[in-house]
Amino acid sequence: MSEILVNDDATGLMDEYPEIAGEFAAIETVEPHFIDQQIRLTEISSPTFAEHERSAAFLAMLTDVGVTNAVADEQGNVLGEIRGDEAGPKLLITAHLDTVFDADTDVTVRPDGAVLRGPGICDDDRGLAAVLAAARALVSVRDRLGGTVLIGANVGEEGKGDLAGIAAIMDTHEFDAFITVDGGTPDRLVTRGTGCISYVVEFVGPGGHAFGDFGRPSAIHAAARATSGIIDLDVPEDPKTVFNVGVLRGGVTETAIGFSCHMEIDLRSTDRAELDDLDAQVRQITAAAVDTENERSDLSAGAVTFEMTQTVAIPTGSQDQGAPIVRAALAGMAGAGMNPTVGNPSTTDANIPMSRGVQAVCMPGGGIGQNMHSLEEWFDTTDSFRGPQAIFLTALLAVGYGDRQPLLQHN
Ligand SMILES: [Zn+2]
Repeated sequence: MSEILVNDDATGLMDEYPEIAGEFAAIETVEPHFIDQQIRLTEISSPTFAEHERSAAFLAMLTDVGVTNAVADEQGNVLGEIRGDEAGPKLLITAHLDTVFDADTDVTVRPDGAVLRGPGICDDDRGLAAVLAAARALVSVRDRLGGTVLIGANVGEEGKGDLAGIAAIMDTHEFDAFITVDGGTPDRLVTRGTGCISYVVEFVGPGGHAFGDFGRPSAIHAAARATSGIIDLDVPEDPKTVFNVGVLRGGVTETAIGFSCHMEIDLRSTDRAELDDLDAQVRQITAAAVDTENERSDLSAGAVTFEMTQTVAIPTGSQDQGAPIVRAALAGMAGAGMNPTVGNPSTTDANIPMSRGVQAVCMPGGGIGQNMHSLEEWFDTTDSFRGPQAIFLTALLAVGYGDRQPLLQHN
């Protein structure tokens, strides 16, 4: 019900303030410029932990659209300000700079009609372009902005980045709500965060000849016992809880007892207690697997040992589903002609603020993206301007405009 009321709000805002209606329309007109920037950013490779070149390019673009005091920190996080009423609420908007592709990946963008093909073109260069386009429009109306919009880009969203970029921004800035712009599904708003724990496990043993030293413990057999135990676990469908042994690598040849094995495990759940429970079980199974391998073996040449390193620990994020930022985003998306739905929880930069009690959402950047995290990634630019239009309206509703009270409260 609130959806419809708030939707009227976004439309009403445009009826009430012609300058907002004007900027809203201008977003569509200037969209080709921001698509060009999306391509330029995509063609600068930007693996997690090596985002500096793309960060510098984005900083220049952000300054170019009129955002003030824009700077990059040591890690590469970029933030600037669109200052309105100092006493009003503060909203943070970012997209992420990093990709899953290593520095050797060919990141050339190949246009194909309305479709752009290239690794990273959607995830998250579309987000970056949408942030720039929304920033330009917000700058144009900043004189009557009811609060301040902190806007930019963050590093470290993908994989072993462990959401460190947004965490660093939270440690150094105060804000009342957060919007991350990410994902290629139009109309989908993410309001809850899946938690995630990853491990790298190294198993090491004495090795030996497969025939002559038969009976010695094997690092590979220990890893196989651990894998077998993990994949037989029962996990709930609701709240969705999953495990994956994504990498299992070791050994040199079939005639050598495995002296090392490398395993990578990913655990996720939308529920904190379920994730903690799964985590405890996986650690227990891994330790028990090594014990079993050693108990069955001749240890005269040594035992199998293991080292389990947590590489990712992302907290689950939950919040009141009627939170002001959720209402503002649904209204902004509807106002931009989208048909917003609240999607399943997923793991995004919004997890960190949510886990620390700050309301947050993940909004789409407009257009449609597919095959993310693959070399076949593509982005359809059709109606992509709706993404920045939705962010523009959402920000105005969140921090307030003119006589219109903000949905967010300033703390
Ligand atoms: Zn992403």
